[in-house]
Amino acid sequence: MTAPLGEFDLIARYFTRPPRRAVLGVGDDCALLAAPAPNERLAISSDMLVEGRHFFADADPEALGHKTLAVNLSDLAAIGAKPLAFTLAMALPEADARWLAGFSRGLLDLADRHDIELIGGDTTRGPRNLCVTVLGTVPQGLALLRSGARPGDDLWVSGTVGDARLALGHRLGEWALDAHDQTATLRRMDRPEPRIALGLALRGLAHAALDVSDGLLADLGHILRASAVGATVEADALPASEALRALTPSRRRLCQLAGGDDYELLFTAPATACRAVEAAAARAATPITRIGHIDVEPGLRLIDAQGRVLDNAYAGFDHFRPSSSPP
Ligand code: ADP
Ligand code: MG
Repeated sequence: MTAPLGEFDLIARYFTRPPRRAVLGVGDDCALLAAPAPNERLAISSDMLVEGRHFFADADPEALGHKTLAVNLSDLAAIGAKPLAFTLAMALPEADARWLAGFSRGLLDLADRHDIELIGGDTTRGPRNLCVTVLGTVPQGLALLRSGARPGDDLWVSGTVGDARLALGHRLGEWALDAHDQTATLRRMDRPEPRIALGLALRGLAHAALDVSDGLLADLGHILRASAVGATVEADALPASEALRALTPSRRRLCQLAGGDDYELLFTAPATACRAVEAAAARAATPITRIGHIDVEPGLRLIDAQGRVLDNAYAGFDHFRPSSSPP
């Protein structure tokens, strides 16, 4: 029998690696980082994943490690920041070596891919709860804020949207997917890819941006309020995976307009910059689709391919409101 893992063994074994850019990493009272250059801004964001709320108790630990960092990197992508370092505060019901090995592998593999290091955190016993704080840098004046959208801007989204909601519906028994669609969409839900390269490529081009985590229309609402503008969205122009295209139009719209957890970037850019935006996305090797435009009139108008106005009953997810029912 191996001795039970203590808090410090656990940190040393699974979460400590030699510092790279950090002056001082895991192990002391604080981590130390060199201050950013005077013309750079530090971008800081936290996202917490709670068992039973954001992931199922039996979630694969490696995928969970990936997702815990991915959702945080997605916030850096959405503001156009370059990832620098992160901390991890976690509550765990027990020190389970198999779980820790998988979780730390998923977390640190994604960290390596984005050249970002874990510099510290906190570890305590409790219901499973995973909280990352990411740090990034963005040159002064180039951050992609929610408040910069202007009337006449095109509205764009990266990748495809709706797959994470499609996968969730399968897990919850709302509908059943065949084996092929399950593999494809569950991967989207469990292992989102933060759009860091696109966020960097859009610096100086996009007027406003955010990442879609609570539903496309709900998140678009944040841009509209912050920018004091309105928008028209072409529901049928939303980029959809093969699995989504096989759904009935009403289910497809539910997944695409109200579904969260896709972590795609939603952004606006002047219509005159259309070519430059497409070139930037190509440089970032990220597909993008124009899905509408920003209007002077406040509010959100949803139209179909024929330009007919659709009912907008697609609220997004709000942790403190009863869940919105499908239209
Ligand atoms: P303190 O008692 O000062 O809060 P801790 O004993 O909690 O420090 O942590 C010891 C060291 O381990 C600190 O450098 C802290 O940043 C780091 N640490 C704790 N938990 C984690 C974790 N989950 N991942 C990375 N580093 C961690
Ligand atoms: Mg501590």
